[in-house]
Order: sequence, then C-alpha cells, then structure tokens
Amino acid sequence: MKNAQRDLVLVAGGAGFLGSHLCDALIAKGNRVVCLDSFRTGRRRNVHHLEGEAAFDLVEGDIVRGIPTSIRRSEVPLRAIYNLACPASPPHYQADPEHTMLTSVLGTRNLLRLAEAHGARLLQASTSEVYGDPEIHPQREGYWGNVNPTGPRACYDEGKRAAEALCFDFERLGRAEVRVARIFNTYGPRMAADDGRVVSNVVTQALAGAPITVYGDGSQTRSFCYVADLIEGLMGLMALDRAPSGPVNIGNPEELTVSDLVDRVLARTGSSSQLTYRPLPVDDPRRRRPDISRARELLGWAPRTSLQEGLEATIAWFADEAGTTRVAARPAALASARV
Ligand code: UDP
Repeated sequence: MKNAQRDLVLVAGGAGFLGSHLCDALIAKGNRVVCLDSFRTGRRRNVHHLEGEAAFDLVEGDIVRGIPTSIRRSEVPLRAIYNLACPASPPHYQADPEHTMLTSVLGTRNLLRLAEAHGARLLQASTSEVYGDPEIHPQREGYWGNVNPTGPRACYDEGKRAAEALCFDFERLGRAEVRVARIFNTYGPRMAADDGRVVSNVVTQALAGAPITVYGDGSQTRSFCYVADLIEGLMGLMALDRAPSGPVNIGNPEELTVSDLVDRVLARTGSSSQLTYRPLPVDDPRRRRPDISRARELLGWAPRTSLQEGLEATIAWFADEAGTTRVAARPAALASARV
C-alpha cells in the first residue's frame, strides 16, 4: 500500500453513495483512506477522482468473503473502520436477499474481528429501517421497532438489527470499541439514477419529463437529510473520545409526505411531468422521522442544509449527469465546499 507510515481509516462500501462522500471528507481532513468495495452497488466512478491521491487506496473485495489480506495484514494499524458496505435501496437489497443478510451479519462480523485485531474503532452504518413501520413517532433510539421479520424488507432490516446486536456484543465483551449510527433517508449528488429511491426516481423523471411514479397515495412520510450533513454526523460520532452507549440517530427531522416532495421537485425543475400512481410496496413504512436529541447532545450535531438547498444541488447534479440544462447552475457553496 502507498504511504504506509500514516494511520489508516478503512471505509467499507467506500465507492457507494455515502461511502464516496465519506472518503472525500476524510481525505480533506488529512486522513489516509483505504476504500474497500465489492462494486455490487458501489461505483468506481464515485471514487475515480481520488484514485491518483497518495492518501487513497482502492481495494476490491466483498466483506462477506473475508477481509482482503492487504488490509488484514497491513503493517500500519487501522485506526478507524466505517462499515457502510450494504445495498440500501429496497430494489437493490431485495435483488439478492441472501447476500444482503450475509453482508450485514457475516460482513459486519468480519469487520468487527478486524477492528479487534487492529485495536480500531468501528462505526456501523445502521438504519432507520430497524424501527420498521414505527408505532412511535418520531423515532427515538430507545424504541425497539415494529419490523416484519419474514417480509421482503427483512433481509435488510433484520440483517441490520443483527449487525447492531453483534456490535454491542463485541463492545460488552471488550473486543472492539463500536459506534452505531442509525441513518435516516439521505439524498444528494452521486445517488445512482437507477437506485430506485424516491429522490433519485422523482428527480430523474422530472428532468426527463417522464411520468413521476408515486407509490400508494403519496401520503406516507419520510425525512430527508442532505448527504454532506449526514457525513458530518458520522465523522462526529467516530471522533467522540468515549463511545456512547447505544445507537445514535443521524437524520433530518424535517418530515414531509412523498406527494409534498414530488411537488417541490416539480416546482424546482419546472417540469410538466404527470403523476402515475403505483401500488405501495409491501411493508412500506407509513411514517418516518428521527428524534435527533441524542445526536444534538452527544455530538453537538444537527443538519444545516435546508431541503430547498439540498434539492437544488441534487437536481443540478442529476441535470449535469443527464446533460440537460433545465435547471439553474448548482449552488457553488454547497456543491464544491461541502460535498
Ligand atoms: N417511493 C415512491 N416512488 C418512487 C420510489 C419510492 O413513491 O419512485 C416511495 C416509497 O414507497 C416510500 C418512499 O417513497 O414510501 C421512500 O422510498 P425510498 O425507496 O426512497 O426509501 P425507503 O422506503 O427505504 O425509506
């Protein structure tokens, strides 16, 4: 590996949407980063701009199969491990449910053992999906959730719940120092257009003038966090001297319906796309909103980007990707400084 004299930070899933932004932010802060990705849903192009950097290594590998030797036997100890390796959008994680479950369970076990061997901190990217279709609103970390353990979302939800259990067992046994972030819906540049998520679908459809797919009647709610804010939250959690006991919600508490999101995207793009209603997916949560009191208290963190600013940056990015000129130039402060 290049530059072996510096401490290493491993980002598993580092070529994904969140992972690639995390690699950027870590390198900008002077860290030396190893990005490990299987490229099942991660994309090489997300980190292509980093490949020439002395502080960046890209290793292809699947955490289900084990940790590549070059990382396991690294002479320089790993200081921190971020586990962001898992497909996160329902169509992608349901495409190979067995592998999704194993990614969370076996993959996390492999990374925890790596953390144990290197004396590294591990941050597990958990999810609001551990709350399932919540009966408590907004969701606090103490809520145990309402997950269907046998439905089509279970491979992801139950896998992530098992991964949390593993993390806290390693911690209880003194085997690794862990931090668990429960990540709520996140959006921004580098979402894959074919991700199947509501923000990427609606923005690409609006820009193309194609029908906007609304699942159900559009009254279900989500709370969307801009990617730069999310990454700040994750890094703040990793940086804490003492690991908090238990998980921490990281997300934006501004809640809106899917219909409201669609209206905002249509207004910002000036699109005349029509709406087309599709069946609500099985076990689709009706409401979701994080209570972020713990993140505020422990990290002094709260999201800073308004939905309007974040959507503008996201729409501009998708427009660039599609080669369209439908929207105004991207807001420079957001797009270059913080993403
Ligand atoms: N959704 C929608 N149209 C789409 C994609 C998603 O109405 O083209 C809905 C989906 O049913 C859900 C919400 O938007 O209620 C958020 O879906 P997403 O897949 O983005 O995230 P998740 O369900 O994991 O929160």
